Amino acid sequence: MRTTTHGGACGDSCCLRVQKLSVQIGGEPILQDVDMHIHCGQLFALIGPNGAGKSTLLKAILGQREYSGVIAFSTPGQRGRKPKIGYVPQSPTFDPGDPVSVADLFVCCMSRRPAFLGVGKSRRAQILECLDRVHGADLIDRRVGALSGGELQRVLLALALEPVPNILILDEPLSGVDVEGMTTLMDMLDEIRRTYDLSILMTTHDFAMLPRYADQVALIDHRVVRMGPPEEVLDSEEFRTVFHMKGGKAL
Ligand code: ADP
Ligand code: MG
Repeated sequence: MRTTTHGGACGDSCCLRVQKLSVQIGGEPILQDVDMHIHCGQLFALIGPNGAGKSTLLKAILGQREYSGVIAFSTPGQRGRKPKIGYVPQSPTFDPGDPVSVADLFVCCMSRRPAFLGVGKSRRAQILECLDRVHGADLIDRRVGALSGGELQRVLLALALEPVPNILILDEPLSGVDVEGMTTLMDMLDEIRRTYDLSILMTTHDFAMLPRYADQVALIDHRVVRMGPPEEVLDSEEFRTVFHMKGGKAL
């Protein structure tokens, strides 16, 4: 059993509840009657085939999609207030020839100032502090377009952690990251959830790392097909049916 700072029960802690959530786009039902409860300090993974509605669910939680049903947050000591959500979107691409550095990217996101105005001393110190949260201070002067998949995800994660959110949402953070980078990134997410006792909600197609890192997994195919601890979901008939697999191997 993985540990959470508050021992698993929500009580006064931050948690996210989704009840009877349905989303339609252009009259098409994309999600139906989704129920989920994400405790703080836990990593909750959404899995499912392409087009299953995983990103749509994240967008509904982010307030970027209309929905019916309930999405409710509770945050400690902030009754009725919206929680801070950090978001890392799916596969943003940067031009490899683009001269924009990691520091420039932070300046644009933090101060909404154009990067050509330069980075002041105190702002640089603040950026280094943010990058330090993902052990990435050495990336500050690198060009964003020249970063590896794993390095880029760490930079985007550092951006999503400023200010430190109550809930961190990542859409397929492991796609485009090599195996070594995946372990580094997942270890980092694990450290972050412990340090800040925040909830992490992420989508992924990398099932092998779920038993080690995820507390709960929801298998989505326009509705919740199966939900529970990773081993239980990955070993279920529903998992094999959704992914057309027999005996753990793709047909
Ligand atoms: P997943 O992330 O699981 O791959 P998505 O949530 O991106 O799936 O998409 C679920 C379904 O909703 C897909 O059929 C997709 O085509 C449709 N969809 C998503 N966004 C839009 C949109 N903006 N307009 C029309 N259809 C959309
Ligand atoms: Mg998606």
